[in-house]
Amino acid sequence: MGAVIIDGEAVARQVKEKVLHQAREAAQKGVTARLAVILAGDDPASVSYVTGKEKALGESGLEGATYRLPSTVSQSELVELVEKLNGDSRVSGILVQSPLPPHIHEDAVVEKIAPHKDVDGLTPRNMGYLAAGNPVFVPCTPLGVLELLRAAHIETRGSHVVIVGRSNLVGRPLSILLSSKPHNATVTLCHTGTRDLAAWTRRADILVAACGKPRMITGDMVKHGAAVIDVGVNRVSDPSKKSGFRLVGDVDFDAVKEIASHITPVPRGVGPMTIAMLMKNTLQAALG
Ligand code: NAP
Repeated sequence: MGAVIIDGEAVARQVKEKVLHQAREAAQKGVTARLAVILAGDDPASVSYVTGKEKALGESGLEGATYRLPSTVSQSELVELVEKLNGDSRVSGILVQSPLPPHIHEDAVVEKIAPHKDVDGLTPRNMGYLAAGNPVFVPCTPLGVLELLRAAHIETRGSHVVIVGRSNLVGRPLSILLSSKPHNATVTLCHTGTRDLAAWTRRADILVAACGKPRMITGDMVKHGAAVIDVGVNRVSDPSKKSGFRLVGDVDFDAVKEIASHITPVPRGVGPMTIAMLMKNTLQAALG
């Protein structure tokens, strides 16, 4: 019969509409949410993410400013800018677009963001709150995955969730959230050290792919009726496209959609949700 395709674009639109409504209410009380985005260099994927964020800010009734810096920017210049934005009372949230140029120590820049402006939830303080079961700002992609599961009425309580990928940005925080109350899933977190990956993925009621490997999750790795959330965004060459590439996920969509109960497409799955949750977190930062 084929899986239900979860429309991330539509769920993201609903989230942004809610933020817009709340942002208008906040404006009446004199509160304006403003996001500062720092973009260093001209990595095409990063430039396109930042453009998407700028568009979403407008749709959500939030303000934004993008600081475009050359790829030669120094670590101390970046830290100086973060500290300036920390001290600027008009700025509610700060986001440092990853990846930074290779000579920059990314963690050292991110950890300078004031925790109450860390709308990406990536500073050690916010990661610590999350791990302690007391999240303040939750990283946007895991938050977006939770919202997609909720919107698609996929039951996490008592389910076995298998996550492939343990990054600080996606897999690890998602594993903590899903194994915590109220989500109450039993979570298996897989990585390159996992022996016999397919034996684990086949046991998942909910399978989350966040490994950054194009179409690595094949049909034979998925249990019949499982819900599959594809976080991956990979550029693969496609001479038929003007750009010369197209985006694919970490899941072999065409094969897995015949086996799963639900599946997110790439694009228009998790990606728009990440941006929508950034809007939500930015408004939360402004409201304090
Ligand atoms: P990352 O930092 O590169 O982490 C990848 C993780 O996958 C690592 O934990 C790695 O294991 C694991 N992994 C890689 N190959 C594997 C394999 N063959 N078997 C098992 N585990 C494997 O990536 P990320 O930042 O989490 O991003 C993951 C994907 O999501 C990328 O495609 C990225 O573009 C995408 N992404 C999408 C969004 C969105 O909004 N849709 C947001 C963020 C990221 P080790 O730890 O052992 O190396």
